[in-house]
Amino acid sequence: MQTNFTPEQLADPAVAQSEAILRKCVHCGFCTATCPTYVTLGNELDSPRGRIYLIKDMLENGRDADEQIVTHIDRCLSCLACMTTCPSGVNYMHLVDHARAHIEKTYRRPLANRMIRNMLALILPYPGRFRLALRLAKIGRPLAALFDAIKPLAPLGAMLRLAPSKVEAATVHTSPGQFAVEGTRKARVALLTGCAQPALDAGINRATIELLNRLDVEVVLPKGEACCGSLVHHMGREEQALAAARHMVGLWHEEIERDGLDAIIITTSGCGTTVKDYGHMLRNDPEWAERAERVSGIVKDITEFLVERDMPATLRPHNLTVAYHAACSLQHGQRVTTAPKKLLEAAGFTVKQPAESHLCCGSAGTYNILQPEIAGKLRARKVTNIEKTRPDLIAAGNIGCLTQIGSGTDVPILHTVKLLNWAYGGEVPSEIASLVEQNRSRPA
Ligand code: SF4
Ligand code: SF4
Repeated sequence: MQTNFTPEQLADPAVAQSEAILRKCVHCGFCTATCPTYVTLGNELDSPRGRIYLIKDMLENGRDADEQIVTHIDRCLSCLACMTTCPSGVNYMHLVDHARAHIEKTYRRPLANRMIRNMLALILPYPGRFRLALRLAKIGRPLAALFDAIKPLAPLGAMLRLAPSKVEAATVHTSPGQFAVEGTRKARVALLTGCAQPALDAGINRATIELLNRLDVEVVLPKGEACCGSLVHHMGREEQALAAARHMVGLWHEEIERDGLDAIIITTSGCGTTVKDYGHMLRNDPEWAERAERVSGIVKDITEFLVERDMPATLRPHNLTVAYHAACSLQHGQRVTTAPKKLLEAAGFTVKQPAESHLCCGSAGTYNILQPEIAGKLRARKVTNIEKTRPDLIAAGNIGCLTQIGSGTDVPILHTVKLLNWAYGGEVPSEIASLVEQNRSRPA
């Protein structure tokens, strides 16, 4: 794509980066076929190519964001399916990140939207506040229909409906600490505790630590951990996201220097995509760039780490069929596609891949709150495709997807690592306890 930026504009490293990305796009439109918002809404401006044009026009003309561009960029899930499809290597992720930051700086949103976004940014990254909000949401759930009827407040209705009936308290597995191995240590890793995940399902961290310990991997949850910045990053809050990144880089780098780390393990793939990008996010910060690169370089999704290890024979013979839902952040953001399925198969599960597995379930960070209508359509489509495989259960590697899909189906759904921990000697996860019981009498 031809661009016309002035040398003055290109002096800004963010603009120079976006210009280089824009130049790679050849308008072929292959990406439109796999874009969930284009597939759902059928509007070119809700496709990657359409958004690329809008972003180019805004940046090239040095314009403030307006209502039209905000509408179409807000509708983008940042699922990155377009990046997987694009034959020209267009880095849509960095382009839309820049556009979102530009919108945040130059556009004044309507009051209700502004307040809801501020509220999300002030609550979600803080586990204590998030737990309190979930408890209040339980009480306020009857108001959901009322909020739905007032369009600008519809996100509040979506939020109340998504809140789980059970809020998990902090446990030893979600608090700072060290989990040493009994035998000879084969590796040492830090685990990202997460902010929303422990309140929604503390069992994910527990299963991860138990399984890693059983494989002679020592696990540390460093003191002082905070949100990785992913949620605010996707809202265009650049400074807040960079501050979060610097904090976590400092913490993990200190751990690397002190006792050494073989990997930083992430069990929420949405966070994993951001943490793997820290090197890029802090590239222009001379004080942090090198450390950020070093930290990003050892970040691994839990399945990426496990697939490289010698897994023992599974201890739990069973006869269960799992529909594996590939979270966008894992399949498109991190290109981790085969490891989860390989691990589940090796652990004795029959793994089914639902149709249209490239399409997002509509979770996408805060998307299912801020864009409830599109998110609802995507969830219905995803659940239909999953249920067609007639699975006993569903596995996924991202808490957002677990919450989103789980709110639309009665099929048990749980994190991949909980299934693996059970298969290799851990407790049966509560989500499938009755299923496992029934399964015992099923012929193999
Ligand atoms: S990130 Fe997803 S929703 Fe956004 S343009 Fe790309 S494919 Fe479409
Ligand atoms: S597939 Fe890539 S090159 Fe083609 S229009 Fe989409 S972003 Fe541009």
